Amino acid sequence: MIKARFAPSPTGYLHLGGARTATFNWLFARHYQGRFLLRIEDTDKSRSTDESIQEILEAMEWLGLDWDEGPYRQAERTEIYNREIRRLLEEDKAYYCYCTPEELDERRKKALEKGTMPKYDGRCRYRKGPRKGITPVVRLKVEQKGETVINDLIKGKVVYPNTQLDDFILVRSDGTPTYNFVVVVDDALMGITHVIRGDDHLNNTPKQIQLYRALGYEPPEFAHVPMILGPDRTRLSKRHGATSVLAYREEGYLPEALLNFLVRLGWSHGDQEIFSKEELIRYFSLEHVGKSSAVYNPEKLLWLNAHYIKTGDTTRLATLLVSFLKKEGLIKEKPDSKMLVSVVETLKERSRTLKEMAQMAAFYFKAPAEYDPKGASKFLTPEVLPYLQALVRELERLDPFGEEDVKAAFDKVMESFAIKLKHLAQPCRVALTGKRVSPGIFEIIVVLGKGETISRLRKAMAFIEGRNKG
Ligand code: GLU
Repeated sequence: MIKARFAPSPTGYLHLGGARTATFNWLFARHYQGRFLLRIEDTDKSRSTDESIQEILEAMEWLGLDWDEGPYRQAERTEIYNREIRRLLEEDKAYYCYCTPEELDERRKKALEKGTMPKYDGRCRYRKGPRKGITPVVRLKVEQKGETVINDLIKGKVVYPNTQLDDFILVRSDGTPTYNFVVVVDDALMGITHVIRGDDHLNNTPKQIQLYRALGYEPPEFAHVPMILGPDRTRLSKRHGATSVLAYREEGYLPEALLNFLVRLGWSHGDQEIFSKEELIRYFSLEHVGKSSAVYNPEKLLWLNAHYIKTGDTTRLATLLVSFLKKEGLIKEKPDSKMLVSVVETLKERSRTLKEMAQMAAFYFKAPAEYDPKGASKFLTPEVLPYLQALVRELERLDPFGEEDVKAAFDKVMESFAIKLKHLAQPCRVALTGKRVSPGIFEIIVVLGKGETISRLRKAMAFIEGRNKG
């Protein structure tokens, strides 16, 4: 059975690159009905934090990347690593190295001066007995002859002459194991069949393959995914406005939009852009992961998000909107659900993010404190006063207060003054929302309700009269 894994180092937020790696592994496992495992690579105690672990788990849950095993924590697996190191030492496949950092530095400098590759020269391989006062590191005896071949599922055949590899460190002098060591032990013992990760790890792979052999384990398949680039073609970072997964949530993106976006950073299925989760699982394969880097395009993410808002379930969007309305300072308590659903109904066609939706919804919760100056000078003029007065009279009489009823009231006023809809609707719009653009006027009026609509129309009338006096 296929088994893939996501193995983040909890040294910060889950950013887009990591989330894409997680997504590819998850889709790969789901596509082949295999298992997906989560492993926290926290052997670097000085940089790993519990907060980061929580953040990563929350981001994965939010994206819907569920795992079948784990989360394992490497910090809890010391016994296993110790056992494997003892075995390598006993079998003479690894050795203690007593060279000091100063000595290594010195030799590195010399090599650079001579123009040769600065790598560990292997001198402690043959050392008999320890050096006093020095705590050793443990190094792997790397095969120096021949070459190490990676048959990468994305890159194709990648060949490393073994002379390029050196006896790399498995355990540091403080006793902590290195990434290259524990990643191999864990992937082997956890039965990982496919390692899908960023191609910044490609250079680690020949070392890891050698270690698999030394330990007597079969290496898995490898698939190295090209990095994500910013629009300026440098490696994607905060400078490009790319943030953590949860920051996208805070900005009002939907998880399905971000997931869809992430998958398309490197993978394609014809020219299809929008995929349901089921489609992604059905279509995903490594054959269609591109060999060249994908470029981050925030406009596309906005476009996808707008799509998922437009087509999303209104009740769910209404629930999600609440926290954004609170953040905008528009509400303190959760408003009436029916009203909220109506608000979303009027805005989902035109909002690209939930944050934008909350901002556009402001007028539903707060009467306009001022009117858009252009809108006011153009539409809140003395000549519309009688129209608005008539409209208020008609609206007051309405019961029920549905869209059709409101429309009929408008028709009556338009007829009696022989005016067109825009002559009445535009002043109303400015009066009710403060702005010149808004959702449909009848929808708005119904959502605001009779009392609020009339009160705002009266306020606008007073504004017109007041301005006229002065
Ligand atoms: N902890 C490593 C990282 O976050 C994992 C690399 C791998 O997948 O082997 O980069």
